[in-house]
Amino acid sequence: MSGNLICKNCGTENVAQSAWCEKCLTPFQTYQEEKTLQCPHCFHPNDYNLDHCEVCHEPLKPGQSE
Ligand SMILES: [Zn+2]
Ligand SMILES: [Zn+2]
Repeated sequence: MSGNLICKNCGTENVAQSAWCEKCLTPFQTYQEEKTLQCPHCFHPNDYNLDHCEVCHEPLKPGQSE
């Protein structure tokens, strides 16, 4: 099943798994709605574009260190 995402902002075609446009970095709403980053510490489902848990402020993405 092919479902490339066309950026509403700049018209760039991105692969379906993209969380944001590779060109202008506009987040894809449809992807965002179902894709959350679950906090490894408190399991709160955070918005995908957050870097840290909004509840406990744990880093959500690998390779990040404070
Ligand atoms: Zn774009
Ligand atoms: Zn948390």
